[in-house]
Amino acid sequence: MSTKSLKVIHSLCRSLAIRILSELTRSKCCLCRRGDVVATTFGGSISLPHRLCPACFNKLRQPILTGYLLVQEKPVPFFCAGAYEGVFQSLIHKIKYQGEAALCFDLAIVLHGLIAAFLNPENNYLLLPIPLHNRRQKERGYNQCEVLARALCRLNKEHRRFKGKAAAITFKPLLLRAKDTPPQHSLTRQERIANVESAFALKKGCASTIAGSRIILLDDVLTSGATAHEAAQLLLSAGAREVVVLTLARTIKKWQGLKARPAPFETSAPLGKGAHQP
Ligand SMILES: [Zn+2]
Repeated sequence: MSTKSLKVIHSLCRSLAIRILSELTRSKCCLCRRGDVVATTFGGSISLPHRLCPACFNKLRQPILTGYLLVQEKPVPFFCAGAYEGVFQSLIHKIKYQGEAALCFDLAIVLHGLIAAFLNPENNYLLLPIPLHNRRQKERGYNQCEVLARALCRLNKEHRRFKGKAAAITFKPLLLRAKDTPPQHSLTRQERIANVESAFALKKGCASTIAGSRIILLDDVLTSGATAHEAAQLLLSAGAREVVVLTLARTIKKWQGLKARPAPFETSAPLGKGAHQP
């Protein structure tokens, strides 16, 4: 058996073991391991499968980081639920590397707060998760952005049914990862831009769906903005009417750096920490 196959089997076994352990300790918070997880209902119909205790969940209520990427001379706004440190960093790490995909439900609630607060409730949006390359998705067993996007759509549907107006969002995984690129976090800023160049492609036959549509691009972390910029560029070139970027967290170090020296494709420093609490 090849080394590559052994690595995949090792990764799958590890992921399975973590999931089994996670199920056995289901009633305890995935983060602090002490607090009890309390099931809550949303919109009177669905019971949210929380994996965090109320105290840890409240740590996700942070000031929003927002700003614009400049793509083909159009401003593409981004909204990040918090800074990539502390609780967000721990949770994203658990989702990506420890098989805790179920945490996406707690995080989807936070993201839904951004949609309700910032997007026009009269509009319809397609929700496109940033794709993983097939190889990495097989290793991990899932694409965390896709799990998050599904949870977000489910929440939004219930919100619209029971709590009133909110933008309509439809899950549409129309992007493909055309290149198996190294993880962005291991690269310098210039390398990140080069790394994602032509990294994405549209799925066959989806051009007419994208043309004229409003699109929410969903990613877990925004660092240099290079990934979101590349995907937004592809969608705008395909005729998208509007692209908005939604992420869980933004790396605060880069955010502070960009304040002093804006990125080539960023119109200005992010607008700063908003007062909005999701
Ligand atoms: Zn907790």
